[in-house]
Amino acid sequence: MRYISTRGGAAPKSFEDVLLAGLAEDGGLYVPDVWPQVSAAEIADFAHQPYAEVAARILQAFAGETFSADEALQACTQAYGSFDAAAVAPLVQLGPNRWLLELYRGPTLAFKDVAMQLLAQLYERILERREETLTIVAATSGDTGGAAVEAFRGLKRVKIVILFPNGRISPVQRRFMTTPTEANVACLSVDGDFDDCQALVKGLFRDDGFRADVGLSGVNSINWARIAAQSVYYFTSAAALGAPERRVSFVVPTGNFGDAFAGYVAKRMGLPIDHIRAATNSNDILARAFSGGAYARGRAVATLSPAMDIQAASNFERLVFEASGRDASATRQAFDSFQASGGFELTATMRASFAQLFSGAAVSESETAAQILRTYEETGLLVDPHTAVGLAAAAGLDADTAPVVTLATAHPAKFPEALAEILPSVPAVHPKAEALAGLAERMTEIAADMEAVKAYIRQFAAA
Ligand SMILES: *Cc1c(COP(=O)(O)O)cnc(C)c1O
Repeated sequence: MRYISTRGGAAPKSFEDVLLAGLAEDGGLYVPDVWPQVSAAEIADFAHQPYAEVAARILQAFAGETFSADEALQACTQAYGSFDAAAVAPLVQLGPNRWLLELYRGPTLAFKDVAMQLLAQLYERILERREETLTIVAATSGDTGGAAVEAFRGLKRVKIVILFPNGRISPVQRRFMTTPTEANVACLSVDGDFDDCQALVKGLFRDDGFRADVGLSGVNSINWARIAAQSVYYFTSAAALGAPERRVSFVVPTGNFGDAFAGYVAKRMGLPIDHIRAATNSNDILARAFSGGAYARGRAVATLSPAMDIQAASNFERLVFEASGRDASATRQAFDSFQASGGFELTATMRASFAQLFSGAAVSESETAAQILRTYEETGLLVDPHTAVGLAAAAGLDADTAPVVTLATAHPAKFPEALAEILPSVPAVHPKAEALAGLAERMTEIAADMEAVKAYIRQFAAA
């Protein structure tokens, strides 16, 4: 299988090259040139298979030329062995036809582990084979950083630098990044918001000299392999609920649109998904895009669900590419205009295409807090604010047509301060989070300045 850029200006690449590159040279995002298909019989069979086997099957579909079936299964088995649930991503019933998909059972208590644990396995195998070393640089709105540090810490052929927005992430999220002591890990606390961090990382990738000098590699959700890894739990959960005979709907708390796009991928591979609702907080660019006629940046505001405080949803570019009939020049124009003026109009074709599968819903701060209380009263479960955004958006979906699965993207113990204000009687704790409290932290404060960041990374990569 070959991978092409959404902007049409980069040569097609193999899975292996796309994995290590992250972003395409033309600023676009990679997508497979054709959608691999999974048959109805295979989907039905997934209900009887361990998660790692389903993951290996999906990985093979995307990376069959890079990894043998044995290698894929070995990588997936090791990646998901670090989860504390045998199902890896267990379903919990909330009510008639309403389900929660727990994606936070990995080592850093957020769904980012699902992809990152596998990515580290894949990087290790490929770099060993090629005898190469790389510098991974990632921007984080909170959870990607911890998941990436946990997955890549101590690996011999990889250095990893995380950029996070100073003061905009929870202390538990920060400690997952800053407490590991391995010398191949560096954390930059950037004086800015997540969009600044993401723009810095994208800028690094646009500098060919820098890219080559440090062996730059990206593991943000623009990395195709992450999307591929995340499509797996759509298959396992839908199969458990009766797919392919039964159609299933998903509600996805959304920031960068990676997780929701992974659902689109599963659908294109043959999974009968009825509907996907993208649930945002007050940073509602995606909710507005799905209900209005434009994709237009708003002002980023800090919310109870900081991992979704995003006004430039990178992966939306992949959906625009698809919805325009894979028109790379239309996609390039749209995102050039987004870069230059902060927005673009959606064509009627795009809107009609979105409407076949997607809707959006924005959830306010007070609705998020009310949902946390309501879920606790009705089910006895404490959910984190991101999951609460999803549940509030799910309430508007009819569960009679198809079961509604809301993705639970983080464990509440990652956001104890926010939850203590809303539901003080129920402590948001987890032994993994408690174990980090009081450990020494390592990080470097830095301005949101391209040259300063480049200089820092050059030095770290050379050390
Ligand atoms: C990253 C994250 C999200 C948003 O996921 P995207 O793939 O960026 O849309 C939602 N919830 C939590 C807890 C996250 O860490």
